[in-house]
Amino acid sequence: MPITVVGSIAFDTVKTPFGERERMLGGAAVHFALAAAFCAEVHVVGPVGDDFGETELDVLRSRGVDVSDVERIDGGRTFFWAGEYGWDLNSRETLDTQLGVFEGFQPKLSDASRASDVLFLANIQPELQLDVRAQLPAARFVALDSMNLWIDIAREELARAIASVDCVILNDAELRQLTGKPNLVSAAREVLGWDAAEGTRGPSVIVAKQGEYGAALITREEFFALPAYPLETVIDPTGAGDTFAGGFVSYIAAHPEEETAGPLLRRAMAHATVLASFNVEEFGTERVQRLTGAEIRSRTDELGAMTRFEAGASELSLGA
Ligand code: AMP
Repeated sequence: MPITVVGSIAFDTVKTPFGERERMLGGAAVHFALAAAFCAEVHVVGPVGDDFGETELDVLRSRGVDVSDVERIDGGRTFFWAGEYGWDLNSRETLDTQLGVFEGFQPKLSDASRASDVLFLANIQPELQLDVRAQLPAARFVALDSMNLWIDIAREELARAIASVDCVILNDAELRQLTGKPNLVSAAREVLGWDAAEGTRGPSVIVAKQGEYGAALITREEFFALPAYPLETVIDPTGAGDTFAGGFVSYIAAHPEEETAGPLLRRAMAHATVLASFNVEEFGTERVQRLTGAEIRSRTDELGAMTRFEAGASELSLGA
């Protein structure tokens, strides 16, 4: 099933203990699309300024991503984000966020983008997420990501956007912040209990990203978790969350005949974990641009072998 994604298309300036890059291609929608394009048709929606060149668009085009709804705003500046990571890469400080062309942007989706069965509302102003959601009322699966900034300054709009989707993908700290609940499982349960927005089904799948510790999946029926793929060298975590979301959502989109429940969601978590692990090996989109299907398959097999165990086979005598 084709996927439409709206979210930031950006230039990122990033400093990690291993180096820095100025104004490299980034943005939540870009990282998402590059990951999702391995197994789904992807349409990207969003504005760029006249500082955004054909070279950047070609990165997306070369993976078959449809960029006809990437709108160039004359005289505008592309979204800009700058961040710096601490020595173990677990903490990140945002140094600058400039919305640029995203301020006041009114998305006009083409027929092709409106026809997608799957919609991903990547990280951007919740108002814009709501606008695009309203343009795909019949989408079969809708997922959303966000971040602390929007919880801080646009909580009400974000809560409305969440009530209109099937799946919420957030960092664990953001889930806690959003709900005010210190416990992750109760925070997820709280969001699962939110009333659905009119004409929608309301959230039924919560994915809590936990950085280098992996990710957890919580639905009304089950809990599942995977560790991150253990890498010895991590260079830049920027975009790992969006790459994870691209892997997760595209895996679901690639299996239209299967119910969006247990077995499919677990395999989607593994695919997402593997894609995110490649993203962090180099700066920005560098590694994923060169990634091959064979590399994805082989790392998925390794992750499977690493996380498999035989429950209940213990020979210990544990008493009654
Ligand atoms: P992640 O590392 O997965 O959280 O995503 C990092 C990406 O999100 C970067 O490429 C940024 O351009 C983008 N980003 C950072 N802050 C924001 C924001 N406030 N709204 C939308 N996108 C953002």
